Amino acid sequence: MHISEFQEMMKQLYFERDKARGINGTLNWLVEEVAELGEELKGINREATEKEFADVIAWLASLANIMGIDLEKAALAKYPNKCPKCQASPCKCTF
Ligand SMILES: [Zn+2]
Repeated sequence: MHISEFQEMMKQLYFERDKARGINGTLNWLVEEVAELGEELKGINREATEKEFADVIAWLASLANIMGIDLEKAALAKYPNKCPKCQASPCKCTF
């Protein structure tokens, strides 16, 4: 499945609710899910961690749907198989 197909699936599932909640409400959910992912990363429960990763990409897709942004197109435009700063793959930027 491509990112765009996942985003479309999320649109079919949740777009009306996402639209009604709005940008700020959906952003708040995304931020909350990122915080929950951060908590899970401290632990050892891999299954719970995987679920938090799923929640983060789901809420990111919901937010993109509200904004009418194609996540796959945006991601590949910025990261076209090379680092956007040094243009190399793998990245050769200094830390
Ligand atoms: Zn780089």
